[in-house]
Amino acid sequence: MGYGSVALPDRYRVASESELAERIRAAKRNFGNRLLVLTHHYQRVEIVRMGDCVGDSYGLAKTAAQSPDAEYVAFCGVRFMAEAADILCKSNQRVYLPNPEAGCPMADMAPAEQVYNVWDAIEKDLGPGRMVPISYMNTSAELKAFTGKKDGLICTSSNAAAAFKWAFNRFDKIFFFPDQHLGRNTANKLGIPEDQILLFDLEEAYEHLDRKRLEKAKVILWPGYCYVHSKFKPEHIDHWRETDGRVKIVVHPECSEEVADRADAVGSTSFIVDYVEKAPSGSAIAIGTELNLVHRLAITNRDKKIFELSDDSCPMCANMFRTTLADLCFTLENLETANRVVVKEDIKVDAKIALERMLEVGG
Ligand code: 13P
Ligand code: SF4
Repeated sequence: MGYGSVALPDRYRVASESELAERIRAAKRNFGNRLLVLTHHYQRVEIVRMGDCVGDSYGLAKTAAQSPDAEYVAFCGVRFMAEAADILCKSNQRVYLPNPEAGCPMADMAPAEQVYNVWDAIEKDLGPGRMVPISYMNTSAELKAFTGKKDGLICTSSNAAAAFKWAFNRFDKIFFFPDQHLGRNTANKLGIPEDQILLFDLEEAYEHLDRKRLEKAKVILWPGYCYVHSKFKPEHIDHWRETDGRVKIVVHPECSEEVADRADAVGSTSFIVDYVEKAPSGSAIAIGTELNLVHRLAITNRDKKIFELSDDSCPMCANMFRTTLADLCFTLENLETANRVVVKEDIKVDAKIALERMLEVGG
């Protein structure tokens, strides 16, 4: 994947926040609607303020796909999000990741070669045409292309159940990667029994795989997870249930099933925002997701008590936090040279098929 990444010059590092913010505003005025700044809900509050739009990974992908006038799309998020935007945008549009180091450790838990090998081995056992891949948005562009080529689709946390239904209307089995928790929570939501969900063990030799379980499985899960959402434990929810029954609990589906099953509501980052905004004044809501979003919701909903489900575990996504005003300012002032994300054409073709199927399924 091509990244026009250039080291951030010192003069940007030492500039004050107010100067950087003013220069970003000036660049935005200068480009008008030829420039679109997208910001994910986990971005720093000062970055979200600079955005034209804030959203979850589904909403931002859709906005990128539906903004043909934007010649330049600066995606303040992580790499897989900017790659998805580049795949969905037209060839005359350019997509940027203002901090090129912003990756996703969960996406890295599914290296493409390893996924291909496991897929081939399982398919050899089951026979062709029985299983379809569903790739979580949090994957490399190569894996999105693999998914498109194998007749599958991409999903996000906001449309995983719809994607599973789409797949079950066409195939017997789903091969889901990389997030085991989103996969299991979605299977649970659809009422798939425990013994029909198989968590693939990458440590175990393939020859030792229980063939009867594989045959019975409706959903085969890759063993990836998000280190931020794994910090939330069932005892954090039990604590609130025991100490204050009025506290509502909403969590992201990247949390384990033990956490998701105990929560009052489970959904994507935009779902969580909506849940908080629609709650009556005076509500107390504990949230199981990334802390920058929770802090922002606490600031924008001062009539409610909004807090982390567990504040001792510091659930921060270090990669989302990488993008600073200096990165955004530098990118917008150097669009010819800085931080462009370019997915190779041959990967784009198949990856786009899988992403467009996701958009058809809806959010
Ligand atoms: P959303 O699609 O809910 O925004 O989640 C993206 C993500 O990476 C959560 O960790
Ligand atoms: Fe990846 Fe987790 Fe960060 Fe989301 S919160 S971008 S899944 S590491």
